[in-house]
Amino acid sequence: MIDFSLSDEQRLLEQSVREWAAREVAPHIHENDRAHRFDRERIVAGMAKLGLLGISVPAEYGGAGMDYISLGLACEELEYVDTSLRVIMSVHAGLNCLSLLSWGSEDQKQRYLVPQAQGERLAGYGLTEPAAGSDARGIQTTAVRRGDRYVLNGEKTWISLANVADNFLVFAWSDEAKKKERDPSGISAFVVERGFKGFSSGPMKEKWGILAGDTGFFKMDDVEVPEENMVGRPGEGFKIAMFALDQGRFTVASGATGLIRACRDASVRYAKERQAFGAAIAQYQLVKEMIAQMESDYQASRLLWLRAGWLKNGGVRNTRETGLAKWFATVASERAASDAIQVHGANGYSDEYPVGRFFRNCKGAVIYEGTREIHKLMQADYVLGFRSDRPTRCELPPYRQ
Ligand SMILES: Cc1cc2nc3c(=O)[nH]c(=O)nc-3n(C[C@H](O)[C@H](O)[C@H](O)COP(=O)(O)OP(=O)(O)OC[C@H]3O[C@@H](n4cnc5c(N)ncnc54)[C@H](O)[C@@H]3O)c2cc1C
Repeated sequence: MIDFSLSDEQRLLEQSVREWAAREVAPHIHENDRAHRFDRERIVAGMAKLGLLGISVPAEYGGAGMDYISLGLACEELEYVDTSLRVIMSVHAGLNCLSLLSWGSEDQKQRYLVPQAQGERLAGYGLTEPAAGSDARGIQTTAVRRGDRYVLNGEKTWISLANVADNFLVFAWSDEAKKKERDPSGISAFVVERGFKGFSSGPMKEKWGILAGDTGFFKMDDVEVPEENMVGRPGEGFKIAMFALDQGRFTVASGATGLIRACRDASVRYAKERQAFGAAIAQYQLVKEMIAQMESDYQASRLLWLRAGWLKNGGVRNTRETGLAKWFATVASERAASDAIQVHGANGYSDEYPVGRFFRNCKGAVIYEGTREIHKLMQADYVLGFRSDRPTRCELPPYRQ
């Protein structure tokens, strides 16, 4: 049976996140955005208190033990207020925690997942490098084995939470010969702590969106990582990086859906107030068209991420469905944000109204976790039969009540 209704628990979560974000975040977001301020104390502490940082991590590992649809609901509500909040969920709760849950050793879960799920430590994901984004096999970071440690050298760029996270899931070549051949089975994954000697980070100084969020680079100069920090087996890093994206993209899709709703609600409010030619602009068909498009994009995006969450709950592979949800919702969010500015006229071109911030924020998601073009190619390849998903050694655990 397909059931589109939310459970009492899911509804309660949605309401709690909505109320918290409206009360604690919305009154300060304009100022934080303008000041490029990541308000760690208020936001991370508040999210931890709500249990969001370990929302879909089972209680035995310090999490709230909620299902994956709840993760999506939280992301939708958070991005309704500001993308920077949802980005925390994407990298910490999605890309990092769910990868450790699925691929990490028991020791890694105890040392890293438990404090992360409880919000005591923030976590990030380091794949992109100055010379390699979409082309992840093009990374240059190396991990050379020395006794019971790996020595990591390289630079990661455009990393969310680079200057504030405590732990990072980092991808590096551990097999030099395979690196030369670009054979991804030579890439391994590691947990790297900010406190490890040789680790340094800095901000992306000229960034123009998600300004209340932290984005930066980090460098690893002879960083010694104990072998027990390798996640999965040697050579499984690329698979883990792609697995992580299945979880991150889900949060990006649900978040972008919240952004479309925010654009729709702001546009409805403004269109009913603003008078032109003797009537509220809401009366004009071309304005209605933009609002109708936002509504259709909102509803379609929501259905797509709900389906992906439903597959995750059931333990069914969902790379294809999650990718489609991410691609559709992010492209739709760009359309919605652009039209929200149009509905607001010149006022939309000013930061006095939130829609300019929505416009700056939405674009990142059309680029990260697979660009619009990469997702387009992936979906075409599925339909053409050029691509299919093979089972991986570790899968996301299905939701157990
Ligand atoms: C705000 C923000 C936060 C981010 N956070 C993180 C993070 O936490 N961790 C992390 O690892 N990374 C992060 N990233 C990086 C992001 O994942 C990369 O920017 C993304 O993968 C694209 O890579 P690129 O920027 O190198 O673009 P490129 O890969 O250089 O692409 C440039 C253009 O070429 C197109 N293109 C590339 N290859 C093809 C192809 N084969 N066919 C057709 N078109 C193609 C792309 O679609 C794009 O339009 C973040 C980025 C941003 C903007």
